Amino acid sequence: MKANEYKVGRIFLGRLPNGGDFLAAVQEFCENQEITLGVFYCIGAVKRANLSFYDQKNRKYMSFEIDQELEISSCSGNVSLKDGKPMVHAHAVLANDAGKTYSGHLMAGTIIFAGEIYLQELVGEQLVRGYDETTGLPLWEMREP
Ligand code: ZN
Repeated sequence: MKANEYKVGRIFLGRLPNGGDFLAAVQEFCENQEITLGVFYCIGAVKRANLSFYDQKNRKYMSFEIDQELEISSCSGNVSLKDGKPMVHAHAVLANDAGKTYSGHLMAGTIIFAGEIYLQELVGEQLVRGYDETTGLPLWEMREP
């Protein structure tokens, strides 16, 4: 495993906007605060969700919509740079009114009902996403140890 060591920067606790797009809201906050590297956790609820699953053989995201109110039972993610801008990468476990869950890679079009986020800025070597030949994904480009 390749890894860098980081120091903890600023820590934010925030409330996500009702009716906002989850990824866009977190990205906008990071842009405004000049956060280019960090990790976050969030709980709350969404009005609807777009999730996806990465098809490893065909190297593409298979997305699916869940057009119903759901709890954000768990959501974790990170922020790093892609194409010079903060890119928010999030995975979520979302529960319906029977406690059944959907989960996956969170996509644009996931609309917030309410959300409480813990966002931790990291200070150290900037991680930048670049195309990875092996997986077809925009992974962190890391130096050899
Ligand atoms: Zn993902």
